[in-house]
Amino acid sequence: MSTVAFLNIGMHGRVNPTLPIVAELVRRGHTVSYHTWPTFRAEIEAAGAVTHLYPGEDRTIPDPPTPAGLVASLARTAVRVLPAVLADLRRMRPGLIVHDSACPWGAIAARELGVPAASSFTTFAFTRQAPSPTRGSWELLSSAAGRPGLFAGYLRSRLELRRRYRPGGLPPVDLGNIRQSLNLVFTSREFQIGADELDDTYRFVGPSIGARPPDPSFPLAELRDPVLYASLGTVFSSGPAPLRAFAAALAPLGGTVVVATGQTDPAALGPLPATVIARRSVPQPEILARAALFLTHGGMNSVNEALHAGVPMLVVPQGADQPLVASRVVALGAGLSIGAQDVTEQAVRAQARRLLDEPGFRAAAGTMRTAQRDAGGYRRAADELERYAGSRPASADAPRQG
Ligand code: UDP
Repeated sequence: MSTVAFLNIGMHGRVNPTLPIVAELVRRGHTVSYHTWPTFRAEIEAAGAVTHLYPGEDRTIPDPPTPAGLVASLARTAVRVLPAVLADLRRMRPGLIVHDSACPWGAIAARELGVPAASSFTTFAFTRQAPSPTRGSWELLSSAAGRPGLFAGYLRSRLELRRRYRPGGLPPVDLGNIRQSLNLVFTSREFQIGADELDDTYRFVGPSIGARPPDPSFPLAELRDPVLYASLGTVFSSGPAPLRAFAAALAPLGGTVVVATGQTDPAALGPLPATVIARRSVPQPEILARAALFLTHGGMNSVNEALHAGVPMLVVPQGADQPLVASRVVALGAGLSIGAQDVTEQAVRAQARRLLDEPGFRAAAGTMRTAQRDAGGYRRAADELERYAGSRPASADAPRQG
């Protein structure tokens, strides 16, 4: 393999699992390029890739992040970025393209260049029981029908893509579920919902967790057991009220309570008990390695990382695929879940106490820890990519997209 080109959308949850793979490929002597937006540049370069910035601002994730809005904006972004992306890639002549499952311009670029492509799934791989939110469903159609401008914009973008680039390779609607002949899924087969429906183009490589750039500003040495950790991720903005409730609920149960406030300014939480550390962003894997409990929104990466560390969870889903992820955690016995609307200090404390006191939750999380680790992580992902690139002729077609 000469050069491996990664193309991704602008979400931490999509970028993070690719970084240890980038670092591993670089360690193995490959050159890795990565197309991204400025927010992610430093961490991608720290992993060892050469970055290329997409032209213009990142407006790929619509606000609110509805599936219909996402499909329209992915197609629009593809039209906008492809000329520059193709010019870069033609100069670099990669032997393999790795794109996110929601990155249509990655799939189009691979087809234009005649280069094999692999798709990366940071969510569940989509099955009947874990359906893709961007599939052509009645919900999607009715939400698009309420916004005719969105629908017309999508059609315009798709026609433009068809006019300029080789046809095929993209699903007609389901742009969040672009498959290739190799699909890397960053969870274990044991955690995947409906794994039996998926053919062997899907490789469950497990959580891809590697060394991240250290954050010397976080006082890891001051953590006292039991460490209780709460985070609602980097995308959804809950406002300060639930975060304050989490801190107040957990403080009497913990040694140290760590609250990652994400989009919310920690100062907005007001005065907190002395044992609470509230920061916008914290070194999550290091904290999970110490944690007795994780209160999470159920983002797939966060849950994968917690299971990799064997930490039981209280899942408070905020949207997207998080209710599904929460239901899987509960079904496997590795945690409990409460609805965002049911969050009160008392309710959270009662659930957290159960998770700490009843050993079955930690035991189930421990079983999943083994499955997550056995899946192989970023090293297995790099093995799969090397094998795939070595064995596939550049002209090989992508599978039929549903
Ligand atoms: N993360 C982190 N520090 C924080 C909050 C989040 O390092 O304070 C990382 C976390 O380890 C995970 C990602 O950000 O890899 C969040 O992804 P996830 O899919 O869980 O949620 P999202 O932020 O996309 O909703």
